[in-house]
Amino acid sequence: MEYREIKEICEKYGAECKENIPLAPFTSFKIGGCCPIMVSPNSVDCLKELAAEFWAENTEFRVLGKGSNLLVSDKGISSPVISLAAMNKAAADGERISCGAGASLTGLCLLAEENGLSGLEFAYGIPGSAGGAVYMNAGAYGGEIKDVITGCTYVNAEGRLITIAAADMELSYRHSFFSGKNYIIAKIGLLLKKGARNAIKKKMEEHMSARKEKQPLEYPSAGSTFKRPQGDFAGRLIENAGLKGFSVGGAQVSEKHCGFVINKGGATFNDVKNLITAVREKVAENSGILLETEVEIWEQ
Ligand SMILES: Cc1cc2nc3c(=O)[nH]c(=O)nc-3n(C[C@H](O)[C@H](O)[C@H](O)COP(=O)(O)OP(=O)(O)OC[C@H]3O[C@@H](n4cnc5c(N)ncnc54)[C@H](O)[C@@H]3O)c2cc1C
Repeated sequence: MEYREIKEICEKYGAECKENIPLAPFTSFKIGGCCPIMVSPNSVDCLKELAAEFWAENTEFRVLGKGSNLLVSDKGISSPVISLAAMNKAAADGERISCGAGASLTGLCLLAEENGLSGLEFAYGIPGSAGGAVYMNAGAYGGEIKDVITGCTYVNAEGRLITIAAADMELSYRHSFFSGKNYIIAKIGLLLKKGARNAIKKKMEEHMSARKEKQPLEYPSAGSTFKRPQGDFAGRLIENAGLKGFSVGGAQVSEKHCGFVINKGGATFNDVKNLITAVREKVAENSGILLETEVEIWEQ
C-alpha cells in the first residue's frame, strides 16, 4: 500500500510520517518488529483527518501511546500505527488540567504538583501516556484515573470527534469504554483538588521509592503482566505456583516481583508469549484461578 493520501494529510499539517518503523524502541518491553507506516498527528484536526482517511480506505490501524503496556510481535504488524506522541500539551487552570492524549502521566503529575493540585499522586511513576491510562483506567496505590477524570474527546469509528463524560466511560478495574475498541482518545480533562505542594511532592516521592524497591525497574517489561484476580494478587499466585524466576529464553518471571514478566536480555515475542501461557497454565493447575493478561498483544 502506498498511503499517498495519508502522506498528503501529514504534509498539510507538518505532521511526522515514517515508513517501515521498528516498534521495539517504542515499547517498554523493547520487543517488536516493524509497522508499515507510523503517523504522528500534531493536532486534533490532523488526527481526525487521518483517522477518517483510514476508515474511508477500510484500513485497520493501531493506536500507540507510550508503549508501556504492549507486547509486539517480532514479525511486526501489517497495520499502520497512529502515535499520539506529538499531542502532548498540558495546561492547568484552577483545579483543572487539560491535556493531549500523548502527554506523559509523570509529566502531568509534575504539572499538578507545580500548581498545588492533589489527586494524581498515585500515577507518579506509571510510564504511560494520558490516553493509554484512560484506555485501561490505570491505577496504583489506591488511586485510579476514574477518580480524577472529567471526560475526554475521541475520534470514533466514522472519523468523527465525540466528547464523552467520565460517567459514560464505563471506568472500572483496568477497563474503560475504549478497551478493545479502535477509537482514538485525543484530549482529556482532569479535576483535582487544591493541596499543599510539599505534601503532594512527598506522596509522589514515596510512591516512586516504593516502585524502585518492589519493582524490577532495571529490566524492560510492561509492568504487571496480569490483571489482579478478585480477592488475590497475580504475583502471590505465581510465586505460590513455584514460578519465581521461571524463564523461557530471555523472558523471566521477575525474582523481585512475580507479577512482572521481564526481558532479561534478548527476549523474543515468542519467549514472552510462551512464558505467559506457561504461567497461566501452572497457576490455574495450582490455584484454580485463570489469570487474565493486562498487557495488550499486537500480533499479525
Ligand atoms: C515499569 C512499569 C510500571 C507500570 N506500573 C503501572 C501501574 O502502577 N498501574 C497501571 O495501571 N499500569 C502500570 N503500567 C502499565 C502501563 O504503564 C499503563 O497501562 C499505561 O496506562 C499504558 O499507557 P501507554 O500510553 O503506554 O499505552 P500503550 O502501551 O501505548 O497502549 C496500551 C493500549 O492503550 C491503547 N491506547 C494508547 N493510547 C491511546 C489513545 N490515545 N486512544 C486510544 N487507545 C489508546 C493502545 O492502542 C493499546 O491498546 C506499568 C508499566 C511499566 C512498564
